[in-house]
Amino acid sequence: MKLAMIEDEVISYEQLPASYCDRGLYFGDGVYEVIRSYDGQLFAFEEHMQRFGQSLAAIGINNVDLADIRKRIRSAFEKSGIANAKIYWHITRGHGPRDHVGGPDLKPCFFMTITELNDNAAAQVKARGMKVSTFPDWRWRRCDIKSLNLLANVLAARDANSKSCDEAILYNEQGYVTEGSSSAFFAIFDNKLQTTPLSENILPSITRIFVLECAKAIGLELVQKPYTIQEARGASEMFIAVTTRDIVGVVQFDDAIIGDGKVGSWTGKLAQQFKANRSKYCS
Ligand code: PLP
Repeated sequence: MKLAMIEDEVISYEQLPASYCDRGLYFGDGVYEVIRSYDGQLFAFEEHMQRFGQSLAAIGINNVDLADIRKRIRSAFEKSGIANAKIYWHITRGHGPRDHVGGPDLKPCFFMTITELNDNAAAQVKARGMKVSTFPDWRWRRCDIKSLNLLANVLAARDANSKSCDEAILYNEQGYVTEGSSSAFFAIFDNKLQTTPLSENILPSITRIFVLECAKAIGLELVQKPYTIQEARGASEMFIAVTTRDIVGVVQFDDAIIGDGKVGSWTGKLAQQFKANRSKYCS
């Protein structure tokens, strides 16, 4: 006999809804993506699909038809009628009894949500700039995989929130900045844009690709080299980059005021360039 309990109700294991036995819930055994739309068009959909395919392959979920996933996402997005949407989806390895290996018949589970973005609220944060706090990077060694295991990111974000900060910037055991808890991170030193090089320790952010393209377009030199949190405190500007918010200036880093405490001019130019370029990647 097998029993289950949900809140205070005991039920037979057979009655348990499949979602309670999802390996995403038990183990974080799945991968996800987040994209957004601008004015009814998906932004950088192919770039995100490509990264999604890489994440699936990296964890050995090989029996997913990406063309079908593409169709599902487009059709749900069209049905939603939401012009400026945040679109989240994940695929887990499947559901079944809690067993680390899992049976041979696991069938991947797809789940997605579409929600309206509050771009007005985001614009206010963009105008005032963000405060960020630092937090140790406790994550595993394959942060290039967009996995559902986000506990270390959650703890960092909660710590930042408890300090009235908008984002946590993670640093590794040597004191080098890796990235934000849910964003890519950039600093400007001596009119040069510096960011941590891509490796297995950070997510290959899609927005990062566009930031680098914008930097080139506005003549801002790029340095892909690690820097410590101590060095970051002396940056003249810094910003985060993420799909749902694009480029957002940072005006406070722990207790250090960055520049003159306002969003920097390079950051403003990059954000403008991003806006000018973005229709090229909408479909
Ligand atoms: N780094 C982390 C850890 C993230 O979670 C995210 C986005 O969720 C990013 C960077 C930014 O990635 P993207 O530009 O693809 O949204």
